[in-house]
Amino acid sequence: MESILVLTHVDDSGGALAKTSLEAVTAALNLAKRLSAPLSIGVIGGNAAVARQLAQTGARLLAISGEAFAQARYSSDAAACEALCRTAEGSIVIVPGCTRFARVAAGVAFRLGGVIDTHITAIGGTENVEASRWFYRQRLEAVVERDVRPWFLLVDPGTHPAYETAPSQADPSTAAVEHIAVELPQQRTTVTGVRSPALNGETIRPEAKLLFVAGAGWTKKQPDGQVHSSDAAQLILNFLRGSGASLGSSKSLVDQKSENQGAGENQQVLPFLTHLNQIGQTGATPRHLKGLSTCCYGEEPHVVGWRFISERRAISLDPNCGWARGKADVVYVADAFQVIAELNKLQDPGPGFGIPFEE
Ligand SMILES: Cc1cc2nc3c(=O)[nH]c(=O)nc-3n(C[C@H](O)[C@H](O)[C@H](O)COP(=O)(O)OP(=O)(O)OC[C@H]3O[C@@H](n4cnc5c(N)ncnc54)[C@H](O)[C@@H]3O)c2cc1C
Repeated sequence: MESILVLTHVDDSGGALAKTSLEAVTAALNLAKRLSAPLSIGVIGGNAAVARQLAQTGARLLAISGEAFAQARYSSDAAACEALCRTAEGSIVIVPGCTRFARVAAGVAFRLGGVIDTHITAIGGTENVEASRWFYRQRLEAVVERDVRPWFLLVDPGTHPAYETAPSQADPSTAAVEHIAVELPQQRTTVTGVRSPALNGETIRPEAKLLFVAGAGWTKKQPDGQVHSSDAAQLILNFLRGSGASLGSSKSLVDQKSENQGAGENQQVLPFLTHLNQIGQTGATPRHLKGLSTCCYGEEPHVVGWRFISERRAISLDPNCGWARGKADVVYVADAFQVIAELNKLQDPGPGFGIPFEE
């Protein structure tokens, strides 16, 4: 009989479990229920009391806590995960595919003589465990079964709803949490802090409901025969500011570089775009509820980049664009400059609106 273990960690606030961890808890609960298998949940972090928030799951709760485990670091995280796996003896180990655990999961699987599959998007099966993942840049879906145990499944963020901790329904202080002691190897890495870009400069927002996709049309000659790149930049940034959308881009648009940026197509560019914004076959396939593509023709952004978007709309001047027509639920054959300007007026929160843009 299988025994399920899910590995989780405390978030940066120190007072709750990370969202990706709660998503993995949902996946583990569903699997344990289907297989009628015992479930253990391991929690790693500075404050192990957070584990009590999972009292309602009915799972065996294991915690590893202390200052050394408050920060992500390979040696301490790998040692903690290994200790949890050895204590719980899980045959199926479900791990959130966050940066913290993605770094250590393969190493931990190796230490335990197990195997690992990454980018899992669904876990099915009632007799056996069947893990689904996508291959060839999200074009083919495969269902994987394995005999080797322990089998580590690194679950992609956003593929499961986050488990809702409900402290009001039970007294979490009564939950029994087993504290596991870990003897750490000598630490060579000291975490001194985290540096991250200023929030108002961020255009990639994984939690946003809407993905706004900008295509190369924004920097092409418009019906008046002129290029309007700085207008495009201002319209897009204002739209992002007003809607809270995340910004994706086609490859053609991010590949454009201005003369002083070295090799490139020497076209006018949108300076806030980087290759991290690119979606598609050689870019990302983000998970958002809705998608709006603008000035975009390509197959890859519409077919592969939108793979996990539920509701899709496109604004294109080209009524014959097969990709927009084939892949969007609604296509507006219209000038995106005009449509986005109108939308920005509707969501204009008043004076001071908009992100200043210097060309
Ligand atoms: C191996 C390989 C991998 C690739 N990987 C990717 C990938 O990961 N992601 C990706 O995006 N591409 C990828 N591509 C490139 C892809 O095939 C397309 O060339 C690219 O996506 C086209 O970009 P685009 O749609 O932004 O630009 P274009 O093809 O130039 O289309 C611009 C569109 O904007 C419209 N337009 C112009 N002005 C307006 C306006 N005012 N209002 C509304 N519409 C307007 C035009 O009518 C046109 O339809 C890949 C290609 C190859 C060969």
